[in-house]
Amino acid sequence: MSLSQKKEYEYPCLEIDLTKLRENVAAMKALCEKQGIEMAGVIKGFSGILRCAREYEKAGVSYIASSRLEQLAAVKKDGIKTPTMCIRISMLSEVQDLVRVADCSLQSEIAALSAVEQAAQEAEKIHDVILMVDLGDLREGFWTLEQLTEAALLVENDLPHVHLLGIATNLGCYGSIEATPEKMSELIEKAEVIEKKIGRKLKYIGGGATTSLPLVINRKMPPRINLLRIGEAAIYARDLPDFFHLPLPFLHEDVFVLKAEIIEKKVKASHPIGNITVDAFGRRHEYEDRGMRMRALAAIGKVDYGDPFDLIPREAGVEIIGASSDHTILDIENAERDIQIGDIIEFGVRYGTGVYLTNSPNVKQYFIEK
Ligand SMILES: *Cc1c(COP(=O)(O)O)cnc(C)c1O
Repeated sequence: MSLSQKKEYEYPCLEIDLTKLRENVAAMKALCEKQGIEMAGVIKGFSGILRCAREYEKAGVSYIASSRLEQLAAVKKDGIKTPTMCIRISMLSEVQDLVRVADCSLQSEIAALSAVEQAAQEAEKIHDVILMVDLGDLREGFWTLEQLTEAALLVENDLPHVHLLGIATNLGCYGSIEATPEKMSELIEKAEVIEKKIGRKLKYIGGGATTSLPLVINRKMPPRINLLRIGEAAIYARDLPDFFHLPLPFLHEDVFVLKAEIIEKKVKASHPIGNITVDAFGRRHEYEDRGMRMRALAAIGKVDYGDPFDLIPREAGVEIIGASSDHTILDIENAERDIQIGDIIEFGVRYGTGVYLTNSPNVKQYFIEK
């Protein structure tokens, strides 16, 4: 391969198909809409890349959402008109930025709500909040109904610059808890207690994230749930088919493709030679002895993507066997192609690798569009 050919792209890189992303977001939005559910499109799964966020606006999601204010600030600065939602409960130290760059936020602490009130008052704005309810996944959210209603009444009656938009939950993040119709009903019951106390309907009851989509797909979502915060299913579209046995044939799972360059190719032993201690990250491993094998090194490593086993080789017979900070070790003994030094090898990406890859300054980004 000549140098000029190689220079078309710099490696490693992500090739990002904006058309496929827009189609995924639009398909996800349509799926939710049919059941009366609005979609907050979450952009943190690709570190808020602006060209991707613009596709969310084109697809017409109700909110563009992220856990990081930096990403929402960039969205606002870009002139994107879709309202923004901050989905990580706020640090007290960021509420001034919050009311500037987010139209809405998730909250679960009285102290933060009071700080938001102060910041919104100073900025002469009304900031919308959704109170989080912990239904057992054990991350953010009010734990008791008393705490939840106390906060709701505080916002409703005593915080004039904070508007209570609704309540929501998050499942399947820390505690790996499944979204079930029972969990959703519990959330709706709590919303209805609040509605009684404040004497009006809440605009939103938020049923969660991608992990709540099986209820929508299987038509088991109770009708009062009317907001979901969706990232992964629209971006990578791999978690539901791979972990929940729920194929999503109407979505593209190759919006992001990782390309890396081969820098070594040799026949080597498959079991290390000498006393085995720990790897570059201080971990102990078992190494299977498969005899002498054709192996290749790709110039990309854990620093760029986290866990090598979360990458998906796109070529038959290419197997990932490990990685260090800057090298990925491949077994290519059974590769269908005669892989050479300087060749480019492609991998599919999922949430766990995509969040790192899109955040690495060493991984270039190239956009394609139909
Ligand atoms: C990350 C996150 C989401 C989006 O999750 P996906 O799995 O990408 O759909 C939604 N809500 C909250 C609170 C989050 O932190």
